[in-house]
Amino acid sequence: MNEILIISGKGGTGKTSLTAAFAHLAKNHVICDLDVDAPDMHLILKPENTKSVEFISGHEAVINPDKCEACGKCLEMCQYGAVNENDDIFSINPLKCEGCKVCVEFCPVDAIDFPDRKCGHWYSSDTRFGPMIHAQLFPGEENSGLLVSLLRKKAKELAGEKGLDLILSDGTPGIGCPVIASLSGVTLAVIVTEPTPSGRHDMERVAELCGHFNIPAGIIINKYDLNEKEAAAIEAYSRKKGFTLFGNLPHDPVITRAMINAQAITEYEDNDFAKQLTGIWEQIIRTVKPVK
Ligand code: SF4
Ligand code: SF4
Repeated sequence: MNEILIISGKGGTGKTSLTAAFAHLAKNHVICDLDVDAPDMHLILKPENTKSVEFISGHEAVINPDKCEACGKCLEMCQYGAVNENDDIFSINPLKCEGCKVCVEFCPVDAIDFPDRKCGHWYSSDTRFGPMIHAQLFPGEENSGLLVSLLRKKAKELAGEKGLDLILSDGTPGIGCPVIASLSGVTLAVIVTEPTPSGRHDMERVAELCGHFNIPAGIIINKYDLNEKEAAAIEAYSRKKGFTLFGNLPHDPVITRAMINAQAITEYEDNDFAKQLTGIWEQIIRTVKPVK
C-alpha cells in the first residue's frame, strides 16, 4: 500500500486545491483528509457519508450540582484553571478541563462525574473521485494527532476492504503533533510551498521534519511567478538537500474560478494550469513504487 501525503509548512499555499486535483487524477485510491483542525476538502469533493462515528478521546470532569457541597476542594486542586465558582456554585469549563481526574479523586462527596469526552466525528464517505475518510472536530477540541492516526488506520482498512493500493492524504499545515502523526511511515511527502520568505522558512521546517523521519519528500512551488527570486531560493534549497522538485506552478485565477464552482482544477474547463498539474502528478506517481 502506498501513502502519498500532501503537506505545507504553512496554510494558504494552495495545498488543498492541489490535493483535490490529485484526488481527481489518482486511480485505485482512498482519499483521506487529515487536516482535522480545519478540513475543507469536502467543499470540493462533496462527500456523501456512508458511516459517521463519534470520536471519543479521554474524559472530562462534570460537577453534579445536586451532590456538590461547595467545599471548594476542586477549585483549589485544579492546575488548569478549569473550575469556576460563582456564589458558591461550582462548575467546570470543558474547554479548559484537561481530564486529569484530580478533582474527581479529591471531591469528598463524589460529586464530580467523569464521562467520555466526545471530541467530534469521523466519516467514511463516497465521492465522485473515490472513497474518502475524513473528520470534523468540535470547536475548541484538541487531540487532533490521535484523530489523524485513527483516520490513517481507517483509510488503510477501507483500502484493504476495497482492494485499493493508494492512500492520498491532505495533511495539516505546520509541523506540530498532527503533522508528525500524518507523516510517520508514508511512502512520499509532497510539500506545497509558495515563494515568500515565510513560505520558504516554513517549507524548510517541514522538509527537515521529513528528513528527521526518513520520509522521501518532494516540493511543488505554487505561484512561483509572484516572486521568482524566492522561488529560485527554494529550488536551490531543494537541490542542496536532495529533495525532488516536482515543479513550479504559476499564479492563475482559474484556480479560484474552479473553487467557486466546487470543482477540482483538473475537472474545470480546459486550462494550462491543469495540464501542468497533470504532468506533476504523473511525476509523483512514478516516484512511488507500484504495489505488486
Ligand atoms: S470538591 Fe466536590 S463538593 Fe467540593 S466544590 Fe468541588 S464538586 Fe463540590
Ligand atoms: S479533571 Fe483535571 S483539569 Fe479537569 S477540572 Fe478536574 S482537575 Fe481540572
